[in-house]
Amino acid sequence: MQDCIFCKIVRGELPSFKVFEDEHVLAFMDIEPVAVGHVLVIPKEHAMNLYDASEESIAQAFSAAHRIGPRVANAVGAEGFHITMNNGEAAWQTVFHPHIHILPRYPGDNHDPWKKHQRSREELARDAKKIQTLLG
Ligand code: 5GP
Ligand code: ZN
Repeated sequence: MQDCIFCKIVRGELPSFKVFEDEHVLAFMDIEPVAVGHVLVIPKEHAMNLYDASEESIAQAFSAAHRIGPRVANAVGAEGFHITMNNGEAAWQTVFHPHIHILPRYPGDNHDPWKKHQRSREELARDAKKIQTLLG
């Protein structure tokens, strides 16, 4: 899709801090994280969300999330993580290309869902590098 920002990231037309990539899936740091280590896992195939995405593309993204989630948590020293997917505007979806949020949680972090966490570009690059290392 020409104007989709996540498709642009897939095509390399917009920069991102990648943590994993294969033929079907890309994972990268959320640019406005709600927690340290907030990663997005997306199928490369464009769709809006779960309403119209192919079952295969979603299965590939969740399969990658299964592998990436625990490694993200390890890399950033979290003790758990949420897997979240927003589907539709009423469900807070703002980017209309399917994406799975990996949201690390820390003991006593008093997590406020969706409150943005300040993280500089340098910190995001460092986080991505640590996660990449664990993904081999
Ligand atoms: P949604 O609200 O649609 O479930 O989540 C969209 C997410 O994409 C948000 O957490 C937002 O911070 C992130 N995001 C929006 N634009 C960009 C971008 O250009 N690059 C990256 N890496 N993340 C983005
Ligand atoms: Zn797209």
